[in-house]
Amino acid sequence: MTIRLHETTIASFRGLAVALARYPLAAGSVRKQPSMFLPATFTPLWSSPDQCPPGGLWFVMDRGRFLTFAAAGHTDRLAVPRGDAPPVPVEGMQCIGLLDNVSCWAARTQTEAAPSGFTLEPLRRLFDRLPDELVAVAGRAAQVLEFDRTHRHCGACAAPTEPCDQGRGRRCTACGDVCYPRLAPAMMVLVMRQGPGGRELLLATGRRFASPVVYSALAGFVEPSESLEDCVRREVQEEVGLRVRGLRYFGSECWPFPHSLMVAFVAEYDGGEIHCQDGEIVDAQWFPINRLPALPHRLSVARRLIDFAVRRG
Ligand SMILES: [Zn+2]
Repeated sequence: MTIRLHETTIASFRGLAVALARYPLAAGSVRKQPSMFLPATFTPLWSSPDQCPPGGLWFVMDRGRFLTFAAAGHTDRLAVPRGDAPPVPVEGMQCIGLLDNVSCWAARTQTEAAPSGFTLEPLRRLFDRLPDELVAVAGRAAQVLEFDRTHRHCGACAAPTEPCDQGRGRRCTACGDVCYPRLAPAMMVLVMRQGPGGRELLLATGRRFASPVVYSALAGFVEPSESLEDCVRREVQEEVGLRVRGLRYFGSECWPFPHSLMVAFVAEYDGGEIHCQDGEIVDAQWFPINRLPALPHRLSVARRLIDFAVRRG
């Protein structure tokens, strides 16, 4: 569903709250912005090598880093290898889909150093240096390869596993137990309130945030038997000691670090004083929307959530 909110409707937050209540935010509206979504021109596949058109793009990983090279004429842009064969010996190769009908291959390698002319780059270091659609495909490759690497043996009986279900999963060769790539559902919530000078956003920086410090919406993993909405309320209470109300769905997104499915909400402040959780939250503050701190990368759902709130004012 595409959302069309008239500016007159959102002139005040009361108007926005009404609009949100009537039109739950949908991922479809988010998808047009830069993101980690697979592009519309990508066809996901789970295929053994002989079921995919030969040649194409090679997403080759060496211990968490992708094999890339400098794009011609651009010192700050990267490219992924393309051709009939990978530029280095690989193992575990899989066709993970077609991008504009070009096969995209994921494979592992292990080298002492990057071959001449290539560099090895972590997924996060591909942001802004590869085209966004290739970063998204690299995210899928990273998750598929990591699943294979960490599920070579059965978690129940420790016997070796082998690919099954056309490559989607791995089956134990002894007990038959089947497992599929792991996805960890996590919620994100942007809490808002009406401050003395206008709308304010609750943003926090955590212990695990990378340098340089950025402030973001709150996030946390869903626990067994917990709903997304209960997770939002629990995490906000645990991390900053606040109560929230008026939860509205914003969108969801793959976040392959290493295998999260992020489900984002907006919520309204409902009481309490900020109290940062020891060992988790370093700082949390109410920020007026016209005086925001350093924010997460534009490809993150967190940034789109914050940008959305700022645009709506
Ligand atoms: Zn087993």
